[in-house]
Amino acid sequence: MSAEPAADVAVVGLGGLGSAAACWAARMGARVVGLEQFPLGHDRGGSHDHSRLIRLAYHHPDYVRLAATAYDVWGEVERAAGEQLVHLTGGIDMFGPDAPLGRDVYAAGMIEGGAEVELLTGADVSSRWPQLAPPGDVPALAHARAGFIASERATAAHQRLAREAGAQLQDGCAVTAVRPSGRDLLVEAGGRTIRCRSVILSAGAWLNELLEPLGASLPLTVSREQISYLAADDLDRFRPDRFPVWIWHGARTYYGFPAFGERAVKAAEDQGGPEVTARTRSFDPDPEATARLHRFVSELVPGLGPPVLTKTCLYTMTPDRDFVISALPRHPGIVAAVADGHGFKFASLLGRMLAEISLGRTPSPDLERFRADRPALAPGRDPSPARV
Ligand SMILES: Cc1cc2nc3c(=O)[nH]c(=O)nc-3n(C[C@H](O)[C@H](O)[C@H](O)COP(=O)(O)OP(=O)(O)OC[C@H]3O[C@@H](n4cnc5c(N)ncnc54)[C@H](O)[C@@H]3O)c2cc1C
Repeated sequence: MSAEPAADVAVVGLGGLGSAAACWAARMGARVVGLEQFPLGHDRGGSHDHSRLIRLAYHHPDYVRLAATAYDVWGEVERAAGEQLVHLTGGIDMFGPDAPLGRDVYAAGMIEGGAEVELLTGADVSSRWPQLAPPGDVPALAHARAGFIASERATAAHQRLAREAGAQLQDGCAVTAVRPSGRDLLVEAGGRTIRCRSVILSAGAWLNELLEPLGASLPLTVSREQISYLAADDLDRFRPDRFPVWIWHGARTYYGFPAFGERAVKAAEDQGGPEVTARTRSFDPDPEATARLHRFVSELVPGLGPPVLTKTCLYTMTPDRDFVISALPRHPGIVAAVADGHGFKFASLLGRMLAEISLGRTPSPDLERFRADRPALAPGRDPSPARV
């Protein structure tokens, strides 16, 4: 007679998504065990640093609606945690002539998704935000419901709320295997075996290490990305109430924030880093990429100077750049999570969806595009991530 499960849900990996999943599963009344291989809040995965963009500016209405719901869920977390996590600043998207998808595609997706959009030229942008100096004729769009999330604080808040709801979170505890055992699952970690009803694998760039022994690997690409904080000639001009979040869409896509968390201003290139593995990646920033960013930003945002701090971070990307929030087809008690390089803004909502699936409920929303058995993830498909 097998032992009674010690937990309803085991969450493997307590980064942005796993911490949210542990929080929501515990708040739904489940007995939750959360396991993290490194210290909580570490800087080796995909969720560290002070801020992450949140916005409605997506090219597909599914994501526009998802982002609108994400705001509501963050609001619930803020109230429960008694802390502001989302900072609205307004957002500007600018579309270079070599943008993979043009402004009209984004505008159409946003309008269909129910978002308000304002179409501008580069000259309009500069007159409204003199800190920004795009070419006068560049197409741009502005929307009010954009800004940033205090990401490290948000993850810590999810962990705190999870513990307050009874979850047991343990760090410095690497999971070495997940094995089916009858209608339960056995999780091997830190020299012990935990029996549970379901497992959420929110292991980010390490996910396939746990999926492979289950014969359930996914075509994922891990890249080492970097963000830089640039010196500002007058930091006050870049305060969140004076400077929006921005994105430049081009063959190379760049994005930036107001001043937050450091006495400098953050900017970065999206999907500009080399393919790596989570175990072999370097933590040293790429000087060429740093110089490339500096060159670009010094033209678009003339008030910003050289980078004073650069951090590296990991993207885990699917071929179609859609998330994976799904039970595994051949292991229904195991739920996989992949947040790609754009998932933090949805972290609390995706965490809630992971908790719902792990407890046998239909996730809300229930999106086909996040299924693990979708065609784009089929074995043998080209894993190279799309540029969006
Ligand atoms: C540079 C950069 C900028 C980004 N900017 C944005 C943005 O502006 N807006 C946005 O929405 N998104 C953004 N993202 C994406 C977003 O941050 C990620 O999608 C999200 O944080 C990923 O969270 P995660 O929990 O899936 O992964 P992670 O945070 O990496 O968590 C996975 C965790 O699992 C643990 N783990 C792995 N294997 C094991 C094991 N065997 N046992 C125990 N623990 C294990 C790891 O140690 C890690 O803590 C950005 C990402 C990067 C890298």
